[in-house]
Amino acid sequence: MRAEDILVPTAAGICCKRGGFHIDPVRRVERALITHGHSDHARAGHGAVLATAETLDIMRLRYGEGFAGATQVVRYGETVSLGGARVTFHPAGHVLGSAQICVEADGLRVVASGDYKDVPDPTCAPFELVACDVFITEATFGLPVFRHGDPAAEIAKLLHSVALFPERAHLVGAYSLGKAQRVMALIRQGGYDRPIYLHGALDTITRYYERAGIDLGALRPARDAKKAELAGAIALCPPSALKEVWSRRFPDPVTAFASGWMRVRARARQHGVELPLVISDHADWDGLTRTIAATGASEVWVTHGQEDALVHWCGTRGLKARPLAIVGYGDEDETDGVDPRGAADATP
Ligand SMILES: [Zn+2]
Ligand SMILES: [Zn+2]
Repeated sequence: MRAEDILVPTAAGICCKRGGFHIDPVRRVERALITHGHSDHARAGHGAVLATAETLDIMRLRYGEGFAGATQVVRYGETVSLGGARVTFHPAGHVLGSAQICVEADGLRVVASGDYKDVPDPTCAPFELVACDVFITEATFGLPVFRHGDPAAEIAKLLHSVALFPERAHLVGAYSLGKAQRVMALIRQGGYDRPIYLHGALDTITRYYERAGIDLGALRPARDAKKAELAGAIALCPPSALKEVWSRRFPDPVTAFASGWMRVRARARQHGVELPLVISDHADWDGLTRTIAATGASEVWVTHGQEDALVHWCGTRGLKARPLAIVGYGDEDETDGVDPRGAADATP
């Protein structure tokens, strides 16, 4: 029994022939298992979709009711038999509802991580380590230069700046699904209890998080606020809005951007970001290597980002490793400030 007898990388995504499904397919397929709601993983138009309730809800909010021919909810830890394979979803700690997908057949266990992080996030279930024979890991930040550090320290920088410049507004660019809500929760953990102002593009998903029981404190639409009210305020928006007309309603704004890419100073400068906040929903280099080692997998497939360094690292540890050349994944973080749907849906 080889891993390739269970899962095989194809142009449409990782395919399980014996189970008759694809995981996070980048093309339309008959049956898709979806790890989470980000648009590079969760596409519309599949025949049937199996995912957590939250992921299905998020797809519904983004694409409308008819986003798939049929849907089926799976709970964390629940095992579903599909053809000759057994499939179990486990929390991935990435965004609300995100899952790693464990596929088992003939005593061999393969885990497709989707996107993940192994650090605390008050807005989603914590990453669960799943022992396996083959681990398929993402590699968004798969270079040793990427070490994210403590998000609370990044939020402290923001709150310090707010205290220092009480007459200026602080605009924080953050992706609409997951990052924005995590930043709000972190701001609350940092002790800030004034209202937080939101760009219209963040509204739908943020309300959904609140309905799911995640307390984000007092939130206000930025569009209803007077300029004077926004002095000293914190407002969140999609990264693309930082440079748009929308930002002109704020008094002398300080622009911040919450992303793992803010570790790279040149990126922050390129976006005209004054206050880079290194906060990521992906594992950093230490998180990736720590997780790979902890799964006990003897074989590792690397996809979704910077694959070569991780493949090399696995080799030095005596692990069999290969990059998967599947085109179509690129996190919202990688779109460099443009969240295609967030921007399109934007109500200024
Ligand atoms: Zn993602
Ligand atoms: Zn992704």
